[in-house]
Amino acid sequence: MRPSEARRSLGRSLRGEVSVEPVALEAAGHDGSHLAGHPVAVVAPRDAPDVVALVRWARRHRVPLVARGGGTSLDGESVPADGSVVVDLSGWDAVREVSAEGRWARVEPGVVNARLQDAVRPHGLFYPPNPGSWQTATIGGNLATNASGPRSFRYGPTRRWVCAAEVVLGTGERVRLGSRVAKRSVGPDLLQMFIGSEGTLGIATEVTVRLAPRPPVLRGLVAPLPPGARLGALAVHLAQVPETGLSAVEYLDRYSASGLADERGAPWAGRSALLLLEIEASDAAEADARTRRVRAVLARHRVRGRLQVFPDADRLWDLRGESGRVMDEQLGSRIREDVAVPPARVDDLLGAMRRIARREGVRVHTFAHLGEGSLHPNIVVDPTSAAAGRIRRALYAAALRLGGTISAEHGVGQLKRAFLEQEVGPVAVRLLRTVRAACDPDGILNPGKLYPPPARGRSSRSPSGWGGGRTSRG
Ligand SMILES: Cc1cc2nc3c(=O)[nH]c(=O)nc-3n(C[C@H](O)[C@H](O)[C@H](O)COP(=O)(O)OP(=O)(O)OC[C@H]3O[C@@H](n4cnc5c(N)ncnc54)[C@H](O)[C@@H]3O)c2cc1C
Repeated sequence: MRPSEARRSLGRSLRGEVSVEPVALEAAGHDGSHLAGHPVAVVAPRDAPDVVALVRWARRHRVPLVARGGGTSLDGESVPADGSVVVDLSGWDAVREVSAEGRWARVEPGVVNARLQDAVRPHGLFYPPNPGSWQTATIGGNLATNASGPRSFRYGPTRRWVCAAEVVLGTGERVRLGSRVAKRSVGPDLLQMFIGSEGTLGIATEVTVRLAPRPPVLRGLVAPLPPGARLGALAVHLAQVPETGLSAVEYLDRYSASGLADERGAPWAGRSALLLLEIEASDAAEADARTRRVRAVLARHRVRGRLQVFPDADRLWDLRGESGRVMDEQLGSRIREDVAVPPARVDDLLGAMRRIARREGVRVHTFAHLGEGSLHPNIVVDPTSAAAGRIRRALYAAALRLGGTISAEHGVGQLKRAFLEQEVGPVAVRLLRTVRAACDPDGILNPGKLYPPPARGRSSRSPSGWGGGRTSRG
């Protein structure tokens, strides 16, 4: 279908806005990866019935639909297959209800993570998952990728914090998944199946998240690490010591740390690798006691440099975000990886990564959610090159060999779908496909993502050409 035809046809079926302007199509064709796709239209549905009308339209015309929140995914999760209609939910940004008593918030899927934090703060509450992209990524996108952030050390990923969602399936049916009650025993949890499904089962039109009491003190600490520090042993030890109040245990290698500078001149920036910690406490005295306990653990691992204290940890996470942006500018095009192993195996994975980089003659700079063994190697190589393919394969093989995963938090998208079966096995892939066929019988929702491509020679259920974005933007 051509854009002009799509606009006319969609305009007759929907109440929301339909755009086919080249600028809008270009913007909706990218996410945070190097991939690109060419949609025929971008629509902003008005409400859930409008989403139902859109899905019915897409089934009738056999046109793919790609839900889009902030467009910050990193493996092509939100890059549309050519010829798709992008469903822009970024304008759905209302926080509909906050219950301080029940500790939940009911929100539209386009609410940006940071805005949700602002909305619930006056109630003495916070929403624990805080991905590095929290200023731009949406709750709908977080749910669809099971995002997590530094605080997942204590609080776990998004799937622990979403308790209900309203979804329009690929059949066009509306369904409510989950519940606000603390316990429920009514069969397998379909909401959990939906979380992490990357927009391939349905489009979330409302999300209810659980909230946690905001600790009165959230203190940030930065510790310079000595050369050769055994990170795995340190992470395991920090998790074992009771009463530290630690909610985040993060690592920046020397290069990744070089962008981290605060207004006081950051004496440590760029000189060594850093450990970034967050401690929760009910008051300053408790925070001091917990800081002493953490300091004692660090000393046992030869981490004895001066600790930099941030009375408000959010300031530290802002700086960390800033250092990421500096890295973006300096490194440019690269592979931004996301693998995890049990924390005790972190040094083994870092060693494997260094060997891979040496063999390929490329630079690698790693930062990590160390407490969870979740590593982000930034590998400076053209992501479209043959070397990039070899590096990815070797890295995933190393992560799996060490008992880990090919994706800790970003998702599978287009870039990792060919590797999914290596991790979960053929039976699980068959089950996933069966679930998908039940929710989206025509395969119109975000085709070309998550599920492994059909084996060569076997025909796919989707009309040909729905392979997802293929073009590189370098
Ligand atoms: C600088 C930077 C830092 C990052 N840091 C982190 C991090 O610390 N932790 C982390 O986990 N990720 C991180 N990410 C990756 C990314 O931000 C997350 O995957 C995030 O959850 C994506 O949210 P989004 O709103 O941008 O989703 P999009 O990119 O718009 O979409 C992502 C996926 O969700 C689907 N989707 C979106 N909305 C809906 C909906 N309403 N219903 C159904 N499906 C939907 C899309 O179709 C797509 O498959 C980072 C990315 C960047 C660029």
